[in-house]
Amino acid sequence: MKCPYCDHEDTKVIDSRPTEDGYEIRRRRECENCRRRFTTYEKVEEPVVMIIKRDGRREAFDRAKLKSGIVRACEKRPVSMDAIDSMVERIERKLNNLMEKEVKSGLVGEMVMEELKTIDQVAYIRFASVYLRFNDADNFAREVAKLQARDERPDEACSREDVYQIAIDGPGGAGKSTIAKLVAKKLGIDYIDTGAMYRSVGYKAMIYGIDPSDDQAMKSMLDGTDIDFDNGVVMLDGVDVSSKIRTQEVSAMASKVASLSAVRTKLVDMQRNIGMKKSVVMDGRDIGTNVFKDAKYKFFLTASPEERAKRRFDELKAKGEDVNYDEILEDIEERDYRDTHRELNPLRKAEDAVEVDTTSMNIEQVANTLMNKMGE
Ligand code: C5P
Repeated sequence: MKCPYCDHEDTKVIDSRPTEDGYEIRRRRECENCRRRFTTYEKVEEPVVMIIKRDGRREAFDRAKLKSGIVRACEKRPVSMDAIDSMVERIERKLNNLMEKEVKSGLVGEMVMEELKTIDQVAYIRFASVYLRFNDADNFAREVAKLQARDERPDEACSREDVYQIAIDGPGGAGKSTIAKLVAKKLGIDYIDTGAMYRSVGYKAMIYGIDPSDDQAMKSMLDGTDIDFDNGVVMLDGVDVSSKIRTQEVSAMASKVASLSAVRTKLVDMQRNIGMKKSVVMDGRDIGTNVFKDAKYKFFLTASPEERAKRRFDELKAKGEDVNYDEILEDIEERDYRDTHRELNPLRKAEDAVEVDTTSMNIEQVANTLMNKMGE
């Protein structure tokens, strides 16, 4: 950038931050020759992601800074510059894909650690020791334990005989998630809500204004999508969306995107990866018929559409939402139709699944029915 006072070519950036709307970067520069300072406004295509630092200060995401932290951690390690560049690119893409445009520096740190973990463990520990400030032995020991857990080869984990899956399928509102959670708790294993995964994809498409029939747009959105469960919290691209995905609008969008093959392929893959490494109770529409055809136990929960609509109505009302019973019933019937009539993995009972009609049962009764069946 030329200096406007003396035309000298070399100027140094001394401060850089996005404008209010995030579409331009305001840079303070200093001329290397006459030392005078001036301001430039440079256009950016994407709104800039702002990083909130530990002390509360904010600064625009800086690719070069991210890269230099990673380069430092990888010094003298067998990690090529190309690998570092693609790591930086992936993290930048993830950040740009986030719905939030302000993220805590901690999230960026975790993204780097996640990458380094799979690339070089010494670099990972080096980065983590600075980033997590290993100021006590417990903190350090926890990280080392995480690494050791990772070292357990997934293939071995798959063949471990003590890993099993419990599949609970059925239409929306049949009580699957409440029961699945309870059964998982009783058995001391994890609960995986696959509906939340389809909801997250539907929610993201909605926020980004992506038409589910636009294959290309959906595919590129999916490429940059990460869904994770953290102690019952649903994390979409590192952001907690647990409550945002429970609206009527998201329910409808979820069942639309759930009929797309690109979406199903990606999510079913993720579900199998999770359920092969540890025992799980997984609920959804196609767990017993497709995701885990060999699940140790399979259940199919049903209830009349009216009862399901009533449960949903009571649930939303208790949350203080302004709801209409007829609209909920209509929405449930529409979703049932879409879920049972789609071409790919439609909702249906697996032949070897135990069907439980929950219409006139309470939660404890349903959970006990399942536990008794498993004990037989
Ligand atoms: O179970 P839940 O109502 O949260 O699921 C939301 C939507 O996700 C369903 O209507 C269905 O279309 C889709 N889904 C699916 N396969 C699953 C789980 C959910 O197609 N395994």
